[in-house]
Amino acid sequence: MKYISTRGQADILDFEGVTMAGLARDGGLYVPEALPSLSAEDIRALRGLPYAEIAFRVIRPFVEGSLTDAELKAMLDATYAGAFRHAATAPLVQLAPNDWVLELFHGPTLAFKDFALQLLGRFFDHFTAKRGERLTILGATSGDTGSAAIEGCRGRDNVSIFMLHPKGRVSEVQRRQMTTVIEKNVVNIAIDGTFDDCQALVKACFNDHAFRDRVGLTAVNSINWARVMAQIVYYFAAATALGAPERAVSFSVPTGNFGDIFAGYIAKRMGLNIDKLVIATNSNDILARTLKTGRYERGDVFATLSPSMDIQISSNFERFLFDLAGRDGDTVRRYMDALTAEGGFALEGAHYDALKATFAAERVDDAQTAATMKAVHEATGYVADPHTAVGIKAAEDCLPATGAPRVTLATAHPAKFGDAVIKATGVTPTLPAHMADLMDREERYLTLANDMAALQARILEGGWS
Ligand SMILES: *Cc1c(COP(=O)(O)O)cnc(C)c1O
Repeated sequence: MKYISTRGQADILDFEGVTMAGLARDGGLYVPEALPSLSAEDIRALRGLPYAEIAFRVIRPFVEGSLTDAELKAMLDATYAGAFRHAATAPLVQLAPNDWVLELFHGPTLAFKDFALQLLGRFFDHFTAKRGERLTILGATSGDTGSAAIEGCRGRDNVSIFMLHPKGRVSEVQRRQMTTVIEKNVVNIAIDGTFDDCQALVKACFNDHAFRDRVGLTAVNSINWARVMAQIVYYFAAATALGAPERAVSFSVPTGNFGDIFAGYIAKRMGLNIDKLVIATNSNDILARTLKTGRYERGDVFATLSPSMDIQISSNFERFLFDLAGRDGDTVRRYMDALTAEGGFALEGAHYDALKATFAAERVDDAQTAATMKAVHEATGYVADPHTAVGIKAAEDCLPATGAPRVTLATAHPAKFGDAVIKATGVTPTLPAHMADLMDREERYLTLANDMAALQARILEGGWS
C-alpha cells in the first residue's frame, strides 16, 4: 500500500514510512493512495469473530509490504486480546429499542484512544528495531491523548516520550494517569503556562528541522495515519454485530479533531453499510457550524464538561476535504491557505452538498450534556461519561428513532470524569480495579518554564537515568 499527501507535494511512502513520519513534509496529512474494499461476503464473514481477528482482516491491506501477516497478527493479539480488559474488546450495550452505545473504554487508560495508541506503540517498536533507529515522541496534552500515548510507549526500547501538560490545569486523575508511569523512557513535563503554550512549544520544536532530525522527533496525535486506521475496525465490529451488511447502521461520534469519525467515513468508503455519521460536538462547534452554513471557520475555544473535545480546529477534516476535492492537492492547499490567512473558508457548492450527504451534526451544550446523563441514568441505570452523553443527545436529535440502529461511541469511562458524572446523576463512578490505587501511587514529573531552549536542552538529555 502506498500513501500520498493531501497537499500533493510530499514523497510517496509505504505504511512503515508514514507511521514513522507522522506529518507529511509539505504540511499535509498522509492518506492511502487507493482504499481497499470489502465485499458483502467479506463483511458477513466478520460476524462473531474475536476483535483481533476482525482487526486483522480490516487492517491487512493497509500495511501490505511493511508487515508480514504473522507480524501483524502477533501485534493485534497482544493489543486487543492482551491489553484490553473486556472479552469483547469493544462491547455494545443496548439502551433503548433502537439505541446502543459502543464501549471503547476498556483499555489501559479508559478512553478510546487506547485502540490506536496501544497498537501504534507496537508499530514504533517494530520499525525502530528493524531500522536500528531511535524515536523521540513529543506531545502536549490537556487530557486523554497524553496518558494513552504514554501507556502505548512505556518501556519500549528505542522510543522516548516527552509529554507536556499545563501545570495545575489538568484534572488530578488525568495528571496521575501520566505521572505515575515510572519508566526511564517516559518524561512528563509540567509547563508554567496554558495548554496553548504547550502546543506552541511542541510546534516550535517540530519546525526546528535541525533539532527534529537530531532527535528523531515524531508525533502521536491523530495526524498519524496509523491512528485513524486502527479506529476503522470497531465500526466493522459493531455494524456486523447489529446485522451488516444486510442492515444499515448509523453512528454518532463525540468529535474533536475529526479523527474518530473520519475512521467511520473510511469504513463506509470500504463498503460498510453505514447510513448516517453524526458529528456530535460540544460548544466548540466548528464542524456543526460548517454543516449548517458551508463555512469552515475558526472560533473561540470554550472549556466544557467534555474537555477532550475542546478543540476549534479539526485537523483530520483536511483528509475529508481531500476526498471532497476529488483527491486534488491544489484545492486542499487553497482551502488551507485561506484558513491560515483569513481564519476560514467557504466550501464550494458541490463539496458542501457531499458533506451534507454523508454527515449530520449537532452542537450539545453543557446543560444538555448534564440533562442527558441524568435522563439516561434514570431510564436505564446506565452511567455515561460527558463525552458519550454529547453523542447520545446528538443521535436522538439527528436520527429517526425507528430507522437504522443508532450506535453512539462511548469514548471514555465515566470514572475519568467523575465530578461531572456525580453532579448530573448522583452516582459516584468507580475506577476499575487496575487503577483503584491511582491516588496513592508515586508520581514523577519535572516543571519547566515556558521556554523553548530549556525544553530542547531537557529533550537532548534523553530519558531518566
Ligand atoms: C479524543 C477524544 C474525543 C475526540 O476524538 P477526535 O478523534 O479528536 O474527534 C472524544 N472523546 C474522548 C473521551 C476523547 O478522549
